[in-house]
Amino acid sequence: MLELRIPFAIDDELKLCRPTTAEKSKNYFCPCCGEKVILKQGEIKTTHFAHKISDTCNQETITHKTAKLLVQKMVQDWKSGKSNPPNLARACHICHLPVSQPLPEKVDKAILEHRLSDGSIVDVALMVGDVAHAAVEIKVAHAVDSIKADKLQIPLIELDGYAVIDDPTIWNPIRDGFKPCTCEKCKQKYTKFMTKVKRFAQATGLELPSTYYRYGLCNCWKCERDIIVFAWPKEGMHDDMAPKVKPPPKTVQYRFSKTVGDKYWVNTCPYCHSIQGDFYLYSEPDGPFFALDCQEDSSLSFEQDMMAIAAYAEYSGML
Ligand SMILES: [Zn+2]
Ligand SMILES: [Zn+2]
Ligand SMILES: [Zn+2]
Repeated sequence: MLELRIPFAIDDELKLCRPTTAEKSKNYFCPCCGEKVILKQGEIKTTHFAHKISDTCNQETITHKTAKLLVQKMVQDWKSGKSNPPNLARACHICHLPVSQPLPEKVDKAILEHRLSDGSIVDVALMVGDVAHAAVEIKVAHAVDSIKADKLQIPLIELDGYAVIDDPTIWNPIRDGFKPCTCEKCKQKYTKFMTKVKRFAQATGLELPSTYYRYGLCNCWKCERDIIVFAWPKEGMHDDMAPKVKPPPKTVQYRFSKTVGDKYWVNTCPYCHSIQGDFYLYSEPDGPFFALDCQEDSSLSFEQDMMAIAAYAEYSGML
């Protein structure tokens, strides 16, 4: 007989149940269509739930619904103190090594098929109070994907439905739109970097500016002393527009560069006052801002840029 396999069924109390913990005397139902399922305990096949092929239910919709329910159950179990928080298996945005990150404490419940204020419906909304804080979409092969992640107002991760059923305690995003995370090693590099930055700043009487300015370390090409240089969001190199946040650090000045043949806002050495040209800072492989693309200011882009600069400083031997 053709049948649909049900990885988790729902019992009389609407609880999700694995076939291995099911009791022969109880009734269980398909989480997708509600049809009664049969518990099959064979000697050859592993114990499983099944129901007959139906018009309303198929293997993909069952997987999709079951995964959603499991995601919700993991949050419920955690919040009621029955288990640890689900762990997100993510990657450090600097070094790309794996980072295991528990779901943030502030999440207090998960709602299925939640409608956001823009009208889009997400598979699972992670709620902080009455506000949807983030979304989880469940992807099952060939299923219609209705959510456009880039258009959504809240961060979204996408989980593979089969992987969730396999182990609902670890969420391994196949698409990760949550706030980038940083591993412990990269955080340590950053601390080391900032200690050095502060020491240099003190030595030259520089006041470290707001988050609009990113800091880098380099050797002055002329006097060869260790100095701090700054990067800020701007239109390419050699920008003659003054930095938006004023006043700029005292070493960032509007100066004439012989190399460029024009005046622009540029870093200078606090000791010998020579220009530290944009080309060297941004385009030379040993420049502190090599490949840095400073985006319009937000505390998040500042943090990401600083982590990247710190990691690069370590890599190029400045720490
Ligand atoms: Zn069904
Ligand atoms: Zn890292
Ligand atoms: Zn110098």
